Amino acid sequence: GNDSEVNEVAKESLRSPICCIMGHVDTGKTKLLDCIRGTNVQEGEAGGITQQIGATYFPAENIRERTKELRPDAKLKVPGLLVIDTPGHESFSNLRSRGSNLCDIAILVVDIMHGLEPQTIESLNLLRKRNTEFIVALNKVDRLYGWKTCKNAPIEKALALQSKDVVIEFNMRLTQVITQFKEQGLNTEIYYKNKEMGDTFSIVPTSAISGEGIPDLLLYLVMWSQKTMVEKLTFVDKVQCTVLEVKVIPGHGTTIDVVLVNGVLHEGDQIVACGSQGPIITTVRSLLTRHPMKELRVKGTYQHHREVKAAQCIKITAQGLEHAVAGTSLHVIGPDVDVDEAKKTAMEDMKSVMSLVDKSGEG
Ligand code: GDP
Repeated sequence: GNDSEVNEVAKESLRSPICCIMGHVDTGKTKLLDCIRGTNVQEGEAGGITQQIGATYFPAENIRERTKELRPDAKLKVPGLLVIDTPGHESFSNLRSRGSNLCDIAILVVDIMHGLEPQTIESLNLLRKRNTEFIVALNKVDRLYGWKTCKNAPIEKALALQSKDVVIEFNMRLTQVITQFKEQGLNTEIYYKNKEMGDTFSIVPTSAISGEGIPDLLLYLVMWSQKTMVEKLTFVDKVQCTVLEVKVIPGHGTTIDVVLVNGVLHEGDQIVACGSQGPIITTVRSLLTRHPMKELRVKGTYQHHREVKAAQCIKITAQGLEHAVAGTSLHVIGPDVDVDEAKKTAMEDMKSVMSLVDKSGEG
C-alpha cells in the first residue's frame, strides 16, 4: 500500500555526495585519484566504477568491498560517491552551483614531508569561505624513512606494522601539521581520535602509491557526508545542474559537460543555459556518458541515456550551445516554469562568473 511506497522512496532518497580534491601542486592529488580509481581495475575487478565525463563514480558496493577490512558493518546509505576528476583545477574549485557549493565535500591533500604549503592555505581559505566540509589527506606516508609497505591496508593496521622509529617520525610530522593548521586557526586531529567532528577537522594519513589509508579515506568521506549532510544530499525532483566545460566534439558540434547535482535530466528536455550573447534556449538532443571502465578501450564512443539521475557528470549535446558559459547553471523548462523567468535566472550567474574571472586574472 501507500506506506510501503513511502518507505521505498525514503530508502532511495539520498543522492551521491560530490567530492573534489584540492591542495598544493605535487602533493599527490592526481595520484590519489588514480589510486582510489585504479586499484580494483588493475586487479581485474572494476567493481562497477565508471569513469564519467569529468568525474569518477564509485558505487556504494565498490566502497563497501574496499572498506570491509576496516569496518565490515559499515552502513552505506548513499548510492555512491562522485569524485570530480580535475584536481587543483583553479576554475573548478571556484565553481559553484546556484546558491551552494558544487562540491559537497573536499579532500585537501597535504604532503607529509612538506606540511602546509602556499596553495594548501589558498585551498583552505577557499573551502572556509564556501563553508565546504573537507577531510585532510596527509599523503606520502610511504616516504617516511623505513616505511614497510602494507598495500591498501587501513592506516591503523599499517602503522601497527611499522618500526618504532617510523612511528616516532610519523607522530612528529603529524604534530607539525596539526600545529600548522592551528596557526591558520583550524583544529585538526587524526580521524580515529577525532571526537569533535564538525569543530575539529579530520586527518587521514594515506599513500597514493601503496594505498595505505585509502579505505579509511573512502569510508570516512561517505560516512561523514551521509551523517552530516542528509538535507543537502536528499534527492529532489528539481534539476540543479552546473556547466563544467564547453567543448566542440567531432560529430556532435558544441557540447556541454555538466555536473547534475540534483534532479533528473531527460532527452528532449527544454533547457535554458547562460550564454555570452544572452540566454540560450534549446532542447537536449542526447545525454552521454563514457562507457564503463573495462570498456574504455572502445574509444570515441559514448553511451546514450534516455534520462540521467543525479548526482552524475554527463555530456549534453544540443543545438546552439556555441556561446554557453562554463561555471553557470542550467535550467529546465517544466510545465509550470515561465520561460522569461527561466531566461532571467539563467543569466544571473553571468555576473558571479565574470567576477571570478576578474579575480583569477588578478592572481
Ligand atoms: P599533484 O600535482 O598534486 O596532482 O601531484 P601528483 O599526483 O602529480 O604527484 C606528484 C609526484 O608525487 C608524482 O611523482 C607522484 O608519483 C608522487 N606521489 C604522489 N603521491 C605519492 C605517495 O603517496 N607516495 C610517494 N612516494 N609518492 C607520491
